Amino acid sequence: MYNLDDVKTFKCLCCGECCQNFLSDEYRGKKIGEFAERNPFIMNPFIINLSDIYLPFFDWEVDDFLQELKKINSTRKIVPIKVSFDLKSERTIVHKYTLDGQNCPFFSNNKCNIYEKRPIVCKQFPCMHDLSGLIAGQETKLYENTGCKFERENELKHDLLKNNRDKGKLSGSEIISFFKKRYGDSLFYNLEGAAYGIRSNTFLINLEKEGKIKLARKGYNLKYLLKKIDNSEAIGFSKLYEEITGNPRKSIYDMDSTKSYFSKY
Ligand code: SF4
Ligand code: SF4
Repeated sequence: MYNLDDVKTFKCLCCGECCQNFLSDEYRGKKIGEFAERNPFIMNPFIINLSDIYLPFFDWEVDDFLQELKKINSTRKIVPIKVSFDLKSERTIVHKYTLDGQNCPFFSNNKCNIYEKRPIVCKQFPCMHDLSGLIAGQETKLYENTGCKFERENELKHDLLKNNRDKGKLSGSEIISFFKKRYGDSLFYNLEGAAYGIRSNTFLINLEKEGKIKLARKGYNLKYLLKKIDNSEAIGFSKLYEEITGNPRKSIYDMDSTKSYFSKY
């Protein structure tokens, strides 16, 4: 049986590796310019990956990060990475953006110079495993390489965790306790990211059922679609959410509820 006392709690070594080489297993090998593989929990057959993912942002984070770049006279670009296309309004819906290229310009002297304003992905790091299944009581996908030096030096013992889980020796709540001990708040950012994916995609699917949008899906001529995306107006998902519901754009990202729900484990 896996003992919770054996789980070593993450402690940042301030090495900066994660700020200089963003490509962890989670992001490596994504198909570019194609529809995402269907993930049963995230329901994503209408999402296209447009470029490699380096430092990903939710759409409402982009303006603040651009402001920070401006302050240091950086010409680095932020580009869309995960998009859907609404055939009805001919608009591109952007789910996520990324800083283009490796290396974050804000890491120097062994620290993040915008620590209080760092993006959510940096708050989530290094808990980058695909834990969306935890929410649905299903498989979790653990990555060997999260791109973190501490993780490398203090193995998670994936096999042990996996074997215990597969043999039914670990309950869902024990698995969550395991990750909570390992990652603390990073876990909650991970889980809210997964819950947000489910919530935002469900929102789009419901809009489609109501006839308000029509999403291009797998099977649509991709070459033609990518041209359309290039030449269309783009709207961030949360902006679309605000436009349609009248609710503040960030209200669909609900970290407080996720934290309070999973804190009980
Ligand atoms: S914003 Fe800060 S924590 Fe995030 S990648 Fe850049 S330097 Fe690292
Ligand atoms: S790679 Fe891991 S240990 Fe190093 S700075 Fe990033 S989070 Fe901290």
